[in-house]
Amino acid sequence: RVEPGAVVLTDGRTLPAGAVVVGIGARPATGWLAGSGIALGPEGSVTADAALRTSLPDVYAVGDCASFPSARYGTRLVVHHWDNALQGPRTAAAHIAAAGDAADIPPYDPVPYFWSEQFGRFVQYAGHHADADTLLWRGDPAGPAWSVCWLRDGVLVAVLAVGRPRDLAQGRRLVEAGARLDAERAGDPAVPLKSAVLP
Ligand SMILES: Cc1cc2nc3c(=O)[nH]c(=O)nc-3n(C[C@H](O)[C@H](O)[C@H](O)COP(=O)(O)OP(=O)(O)OC[C@H]3O[C@@H](n4cnc5c(N)ncnc54)[C@H](O)[C@@H]3O)c2cc1C
Repeated sequence: RVEPGAVVLTDGRTLPAGAVVVGIGARPATGWLAGSGIALGPEGSVTADAALRTSLPDVYAVGDCASFPSARYGTRLVVHHWDNALQGPRTAAAHIAAAGDAADIPPYDPVPYFWSEQFGRFVQYAGHHADADTLLWRGDPAGPAWSVCWLRDGVLVAVLAVGRPRDLAQGRRLVEAGARLDAERAGDPAVPLKSAVLP
């Protein structure tokens, strides 16, 4: 528990703390689907396929409750962001409307994106950086506007922008394209991200 100036742990230890950052997760409330025939993942997500179909015919799952296989990231993703809840229904609706003739519908495999406003700062993130090997700062995080880029083998895999929406807009397209960046130029906030792309 949090007490004035301290955090008390379950084992009774008291840690002095001037500020407390609480990081909590979320789990889909899918217990009511037990026994329905709809397959659930270990964390309770409805395990949809790349068309966002569940394991039951004609039942689709989108948004926070669903996980989907991402060929882009080579893993199943559970994305708890608003944009995912907005975009997923396009794929589900296209499949429902196509009534079996779905050859032209691309698999659901977005670059995850969220935005938020924190303490008056506009915060945006695009990508998925679990496997990144390089972190680049663009600007001073003590200032009002800065960004972070994550690369894997030189390829931009994610960007976080605080008060730098242009970095996000350019970075999101570069992540989608799998662009390779010159790390030195990408780390210079005066250089537009798209100008740091290697040929
Ligand atoms: C505190 C907080 C802050 C967030 N901030 C951001 C942010 O800044 N940016 C961002 O991109 N995302 C943010 N998110 C995440 C975003 O809100 C979610 O990703 C999004 O709302 C998911 O939409 P959804 O329709 O999939 O699920 P939900 O919005 O959770 O809708 C599911 C609905 O189903 C209802 N429901 C559940 N079980 C049943 C049942 N058995 N029967 C009937 N109805 C049921 C629920 O009551 C709920 O209304 C935030 C989330 C939280 C909790």
